[in-house]
Amino acid sequence: MNDDTERALDEAARLLVESRHVLALVGAGLSAESGVPTFRGPGGLWTKLGEPSMNGYQEFLGDPARWWREQQDQQADPDRTEFREAIERAEPNPGHYALADLERMGILKMTITQNVDDLHARAGQELLAEIHGNRTRLRCITCESRWPRDHFHGQDYPIHCPECRGLVKSDTVMFGEPIPRGVLDLCFSQTEMCDCMIVCGTSATVYPAASFPQTVRERGGAFIEANPNPTPLSPLANVVLRGQNGQMLPALVERVKALRR
Ligand code: NAD
Ligand code: ZN
Repeated sequence: MNDDTERALDEAARLLVESRHVLALVGAGLSAESGVPTFRGPGGLWTKLGEPSMNGYQEFLGDPARWWREQQDQQADPDRTEFREAIERAEPNPGHYALADLERMGILKMTITQNVDDLHARAGQELLAEIHGNRTRLRCITCESRWPRDHFHGQDYPIHCPECRGLVKSDTVMFGEPIPRGVLDLCFSQTEMCDCMIVCGTSATVYPAASFPQTVRERGGAFIEANPNPTPLSPLANVVLRGQNGQMLPALVERVKALRR
């Protein structure tokens, strides 16, 4: 590691231990080293295949039974099957474990993640706001009840919520689908309290997540960007950790531990 990186890590560690309410905001880059491709950027899925249909949610509402049948048909779209298989094979990487360490140490109060891959929980994190849902779960679009993915196995399509009769779909937020109110409110209230946000592996182009670091800055807080590539938010960052999350985040945890000794 060069001197600039060492200095940035020291400064980031200092911000983390001196802040009262640290949040992480996470994107697909954190899971890149687990073998899950990102959507944008070099090697990104959309860079290769083009952007998917932007009205997935309208299509679901138009024919929910068809959507459920397509979930069973693994051959429907071979390119996207490759993505599904990568996500199913993926294991948490040192970046996920570093966030879990910060949470256990009482430093990280909540992680707002755009990832749907369940790798945070599998690394041992519990304080999660999964803003785009979690692919291992189902959700009622009306009352926001959630269940494990295979909960309604064998029932007729489309599936209706046993609580309120609303439609049940994957918890993953589709294009055109509103972010569930519960998790969105949690993100806004956490961001209001936040005095230091560490932004990991997100190109910060998808709203509302992209606005959270700006809110923290406007309220006088700090933010740390951890991303190997520049993003539209980079100029606003107090500290930039330019490297892979799997290397930078564990190095950051070591420095935080040293400061607290
Ligand atoms: P993005 O694809 O737009 O951007 C990925 C970012 O990760 C880029 O800025 C890139 O520089 C960075 N990156 C690449 N390798 C990295 C590494 N090793 N360490 C740290 N950063 C790295 O991702 P996004 O901003 O999260 O937005 C895309 C949307 O797609 C998200 O909302 C998310 O829901 C979804 N998505 C989720 C997954 C997943 O669950 N793992 C994967 C792909 C996309
Ligand atoms: Zn319901």
